[in-house]
Amino acid sequence: MTDPRRALPAVGTVLDGVQVRACAAHWTLAMVTDAVRALLTAARAGAPLPADDAAWAAAVTRHLEARTQASLRPVLNVTGVVLHTNLGRAPLAPAALEAMAAVARGGSTLEYDVAAGARGDRHAHATALLRELTGAEDALVVNNCAAGLVLALQALAAGRETLVSRGELVEIGGSFRVPEIMTASGTTLVEVGTTNRTHAADYARALGLRSAAIVKVHRSNFALEGFVAEATIADLVPIASGAGLPLIHDFGSGLLLDLSAWGLTGEPTAADAVRAGATLVIMSGDKLLGGPQAGIVLGTRAAIETLRRHPMARALRVDKLTFAALEATLALYRDPERARAEIPALAMLTAAPEAIHVRATAVAAAIGPSATVEASEASVGGGAFPTARIPSAAVTLPGDAMAIERRLRAGRLPVIARIAESRVRLDLRSLPPEDDAMLVALVREALA
Ligand SMILES: *Cc1c(COP(=O)(O)O)cnc(C)c1O
Repeated sequence: MTDPRRALPAVGTVLDGVQVRACAAHWTLAMVTDAVRALLTAARAGAPLPADDAAWAAAVTRHLEARTQASLRPVLNVTGVVLHTNLGRAPLAPAALEAMAAVARGGSTLEYDVAAGARGDRHAHATALLRELTGAEDALVVNNCAAGLVLALQALAAGRETLVSRGELVEIGGSFRVPEIMTASGTTLVEVGTTNRTHAADYARALGLRSAAIVKVHRSNFALEGFVAEATIADLVPIASGAGLPLIHDFGSGLLLDLSAWGLTGEPTAADAVRAGATLVIMSGDKLLGGPQAGIVLGTRAAIETLRRHPMARALRVDKLTFAALEATLALYRDPERARAEIPALAMLTAAPEAIHVRATAVAAAIGPSATVEASEASVGGGAFPTARIPSAAVTLPGDAMAIERRLRAGRLPVIARIAESRVRLDLRSLPPEDDAMLVALVREALA
């Protein structure tokens, strides 16, 4: 065996190559020099040494592309989980993307009142639409649902006690644990009832002089079945108001449209939640609402005003991009049919199974004879409708599932698929239809 180190060229020699030098026109000479050094170091450790100028140029390009790749980049979601928290939850509607670009480019009315020619109120954006669509008296937009709950507890219950059912001391999405959020908000948690059964009388009995609020948490990502009981918001309203305490409803999903016609039943809409009478209803912007990451706090004028004036509101506020996307998404809901068609999360969740099957058949045919179509079950994700299984269709790829799944992830645009029964499955319900052609191209590249 020859010692590869013997054959290592000098950095300058590699940089003299015509094609390597051409790389410097695209990147910079300093970056190309660094890349050559890194590749030589790798070769010294045993990596293959590029054979000629063309091979060096290709290796330098690959190295610099990997090094300069953005950390946050798009992927194709064919997991069948429509609101995948790890993949960024709701895709935005075209109207939301346009609104973001429009205010991102230059100045905006973020805190400026054009009519008055004077300073305006950041918190005014989206508020009118939220009131119109949910029937709430007032609304406040913060960073996410967790932030909304933190702000509500800090403003209304810090230093005192907050009552929560033992059945609602849940963990939602890995880092959101109701008891930890309460502690971090400076309120003392008072556990009420038992894991499977909590009655209205349990809350009434737990009330005391130090009570500051009652919190009701939507269970979101799991279902309790069997010998269970819980107090509804309607049960809790008289108890809270009788004691003069705010009732805070951590509602989560942000559902604005009744989707029961599409098989998604049993979850209240935001308007239902507001009507039930809690003082505050808190929900996410990027779950079933289909908008940007945001926490939407709906409630009485007085409670929202208290939150708005709290110093933490400044720390939890959102930027112009969020307001732009949220307002544009909410505006689509003025026409429910338009919302369902144009908000991608809703369009994906309500697409006819036959339509998904037709797409899957076309995608499989374009991939090649080895790809087949199978019935699949998609899910909502994002901790909403946790038990709902939505009929869907998946393209199934033969071969070594682990290896194919890995190659799909390593492509120029990562394809995030699912493995079931030792087969890679590409569920098309979670992919916008306009990405089907791109999916075909990426799968063919991965299989080549
Ligand atoms: C998803 C969810 C949360 C967390 O929402 P974020 O917007 O991610 O902070 C909190 N509570 C409930 C009930 C949820 O469903």
